[in-house]
Amino acid sequence: MYVKNEWFVSGEMALTDSELQAWVESISLSCFGKPFLHEARFNPRLKTTGGRYHLGDHRIEMNPKHLIHGQEVFGKIILHELCHYHLHLEGKGYRHRDRDFKQLLAAVGGLRYAPRLPGQTKPKYVVHCLACGRRAFRQRQMQVDRYRCAQCGGRLKLEQVVAEQLNKGDGCLDDTE
Ligand SMILES: [Zn+2]
Ligand SMILES: [Zn+2]
Repeated sequence: MYVKNEWFVSGEMALTDSELQAWVESISLSCFGKPFLHEARFNPRLKTTGGRYHLGDHRIEMNPKHLIHGQEVFGKIILHELCHYHLHLEGKGYRHRDRDFKQLLAAVGGLRYAPRLPGQTKPKYVVHCLACGRRAFRQRQMQVDRYRCAQCGGRLKLEQVVAEQLNKGDGCLDDTE
Protein backbone atom coordinates (compact mmCIF):
# COMPACT_ATOMS: atom_id res chain seq x y z
CA MET A 1 0.00 0.00 0.00
CA TYR A 2 1.13 3.51 -0.77
CA VAL A 3 2.35 5.40 2.29
CA LYS A 4 1.99 9.18 2.31
CA ASN A 5 4.38 9.86 5.20
CA GLU A 6 7.63 8.44 3.79
CA TRP A 7 10.50 10.93 3.87
CA PHE A 8 12.17 11.99 0.64
CA VAL A 9 15.63 13.31 1.45
CA SER A 10 18.22 15.10 -0.70
CA GLY A 11 20.84 17.54 0.53
CA GLU A 12 19.51 19.44 3.51
CA MET A 13 15.85 18.98 2.67
CA ALA A 14 13.51 16.20 3.71
CA LEU A 15 9.82 16.21 2.82
CA THR A 16 6.90 13.81 2.87
CA ASP A 17 4.29 13.59 0.11
CA SER A 18 1.77 15.30 2.41
CA GLU A 19 4.14 18.23 2.87
CA LEU A 20 4.79 18.40 -0.87
CA GLN A 21 1.02 18.43 -1.46
CA ALA A 22 0.61 21.34 0.97
CA TRP A 23 3.55 23.20 -0.61
CA VAL A 24 2.17 22.86 -4.17
CA GLU A 25 -1.28 24.02 -2.96
CA SER A 26 0.20 27.04 -1.24
CA ILE A 27 2.38 28.07 -4.24
CA SER A 28 -0.64 27.70 -6.49
CA LEU A 29 -2.69 30.09 -4.36
CA SER A 30 0.04 32.64 -3.73
CA CYS A 31 1.56 32.78 -7.26
CA PHE A 32 -1.42 31.95 -9.52
CA GLY A 33 -4.29 33.03 -7.26
CA LYS A 34 -5.97 29.69 -8.03
CA PRO A 35 -6.27 26.46 -6.04
CA PHE A 36 -4.45 23.23 -6.90
CA LEU A 37 -7.18 20.61 -6.59
CA HIS A 38 -5.38 17.43 -7.62
CA GLU A 39 -2.61 15.18 -6.34
CA ALA A 40 1.05 16.09 -5.92
CA ARG A 41 3.61 13.46 -4.95
CA PHE A 42 7.26 12.55 -5.29
CA ASN A 43 8.37 10.10 -7.96
CA PRO A 44 11.86 8.81 -7.06
CA ARG A 45 12.05 6.90 -10.37
CA LEU A 46 12.45 10.12 -12.37
CA LYS A 47 16.07 10.36 -13.55
CA THR A 48 17.09 13.97 -14.23
CA THR A 49 13.74 15.56 -15.14
CA GLY A 50 12.49 18.04 -12.56
CA GLY A 51 8.88 16.93 -12.49
CA ARG A 52 5.97 15.77 -14.56
CA TYR A 53 2.40 16.94 -15.11
CA HIS A 54 -0.03 14.19 -16.12
CA LEU A 55 -2.64 15.25 -18.66
CA GLY A 56 -4.89 12.29 -17.80
CA ASP A 57 -5.54 12.78 -14.08
CA HIS A 58 -3.93 16.24 -13.62
CA ARG A 59 -1.50 15.01 -10.97
CA ILE A 60 1.95 16.50 -10.53
CA GLU A 61 4.97 14.34 -9.77
CA MET A 62 8.20 15.86 -8.52
CA ASN A 63 11.71 14.41 -8.64
CA PRO A 64 13.00 14.30 -5.03
CA LYS A 65 16.64 14.36 -6.27
CA HIS A 66 16.18 18.06 -7.08
CA LEU A 67 15.53 18.84 -3.38
CA ILE A 68 19.32 19.06 -3.21
CA HIS A 69 19.16 22.51 -4.85
CA GLY A 70 17.19 23.88 -1.87
CA GLN A 71 13.76 25.37 -1.29
CA GLU A 72 13.97 28.30 -3.70
CA VAL A 73 15.05 26.33 -6.78
CA PHE A 74 12.70 23.45 -6.01
CA GLY A 75 9.86 25.96 -5.70
CA LYS A 76 10.67 27.24 -9.19
CA ILE A 77 10.38 23.70 -10.57
CA ILE A 78 6.95 23.44 -8.89
CA LEU A 79 6.03 26.74 -10.59
CA HIS A 80 6.94 25.20 -13.97
CA GLU A 81 4.65 22.19 -13.40
CA LEU A 82 1.85 24.43 -12.13
CA CYS A 83 2.04 26.44 -15.38
CA HIS A 84 1.28 23.23 -17.31
CA TYR A 85 -1.48 22.43 -14.81
CA HIS A 86 -3.40 25.69 -14.84
CA LEU A 87 -3.06 26.33 -18.60
CA HIS A 88 -4.16 22.78 -19.46
CA LEU A 89 -7.22 22.97 -17.20
CA GLU A 90 -8.16 26.34 -18.73
CA GLY A 91 -7.82 25.03 -22.29
CA LYS A 92 -4.87 27.31 -23.07
CA GLY A 93 -1.47 26.56 -24.60
CA TYR A 94 0.16 24.35 -21.96
CA ARG A 95 3.10 23.00 -24.02
CA HIS A 96 6.66 24.33 -23.80
CA ARG A 97 6.42 25.78 -27.31
CA ASP A 98 3.14 27.60 -26.66
CA ARG A 99 3.10 31.33 -26.17
CA ASP A 100 0.69 31.08 -23.20
CA PHE A 101 3.16 28.77 -21.47
CA LYS A 102 6.21 30.95 -22.10
CA GLN A 103 4.41 34.07 -20.90
CA LEU A 104 2.98 32.51 -17.74
CA LEU A 105 6.30 30.84 -16.85
CA ALA A 106 8.10 34.17 -17.16
CA ALA A 107 5.37 35.99 -15.20
CA VAL A 108 5.58 33.65 -12.19
CA GLY A 109 9.37 33.20 -12.43
CA GLY A 110 9.43 29.43 -12.97
CA LEU A 111 12.43 27.52 -14.27
CA ARG A 112 12.61 26.47 -17.92
CA TYR A 113 15.42 23.92 -17.58
CA ALA A 114 16.16 21.50 -14.76
CA PRO A 115 19.34 22.37 -12.88
CA ARG A 116 22.16 19.86 -13.22
CA LEU A 117 22.24 17.19 -10.54
CA PRO A 118 25.47 16.25 -8.76
CA GLY A 119 27.21 13.46 -10.65
CA GLN A 120 25.54 14.55 -13.87
CA THR A 121 28.71 15.61 -15.66
CA LYS A 122 28.62 18.17 -18.41
CA PRO A 123 29.84 16.67 -21.68
CA LYS A 124 32.77 18.42 -23.36
CA TYR A 125 32.39 17.23 -26.93
CA VAL A 126 29.62 16.53 -29.37
CA VAL A 127 29.95 14.17 -32.34
CA HIS A 128 27.77 15.20 -35.29
CA CYS A 129 26.90 12.95 -38.20
CA LEU A 130 27.37 15.01 -41.36
CA ALA A 131 24.84 12.86 -43.21
CA CYS A 132 21.86 12.34 -40.88
CA GLY A 133 22.55 14.96 -38.19
CA ARG A 134 22.56 12.47 -35.30
CA ARG A 135 24.30 13.87 -32.20
CA ALA A 136 26.13 12.10 -29.41
CA PHE A 137 27.86 13.68 -26.42
CA ARG A 138 31.33 12.60 -25.29
CA GLN A 139 33.55 13.36 -22.31
CA ARG A 140 36.78 12.88 -24.29
CA GLN A 141 38.13 13.78 -27.64
CA MET A 142 38.09 11.01 -30.26
CA GLN A 143 39.56 10.39 -33.69
CA VAL A 144 36.31 10.76 -35.61
CA ASP A 145 37.85 9.88 -38.99
CA ARG A 146 38.26 6.31 -37.72
CA TYR A 147 34.54 5.92 -37.07
CA ARG A 148 31.25 6.13 -38.94
CA CYS A 149 27.75 7.05 -37.76
CA ALA A 150 26.11 4.13 -35.93
CA GLN A 151 22.76 5.05 -37.46
CA CYS A 152 23.50 5.72 -41.13
CA GLY A 153 27.22 5.07 -41.73
CA GLY A 154 27.84 8.74 -42.53
CA ARG A 155 31.04 10.69 -41.81
CA LEU A 156 31.42 12.30 -38.38
CA LYS A 157 32.60 15.66 -37.09
CA LEU A 158 33.76 16.47 -33.56
CA GLU A 159 33.05 19.82 -31.92
CA GLN A 160 33.41 21.34 -28.48
CA VAL A 161 30.08 21.70 -26.70
CA VAL A 162 28.68 25.18 -26.22
CA ALA A 163 26.03 26.00 -23.62
CA GLU A 164 23.15 26.47 -26.08
CA GLN A 165 23.56 22.97 -27.50
CA LEU A 166 23.23 21.52 -24.01
CA ASN A 167 20.04 23.43 -23.34
CA LYS A 168 18.32 21.86 -26.33
CA GLY A 169 18.65 18.20 -25.57
CA ASP A 170 20.12 18.06 -22.11
CA GLY A 171 18.64 19.17 -18.82
CA CYS A 172 15.11 19.73 -20.09
CA LEU A 173 12.71 20.02 -17.18
CA ASP A 174 10.14 17.49 -18.34
CA ASP A 175 8.70 15.97 -21.48
CA THR A 176 5.38 17.84 -21.74
CA GLU A 177 5.79 18.65 -25.41
ZN1 LIG B 1 24.26 9.42 -39.54
ZN1 LIG C 1 7.44 21.30 -18.61
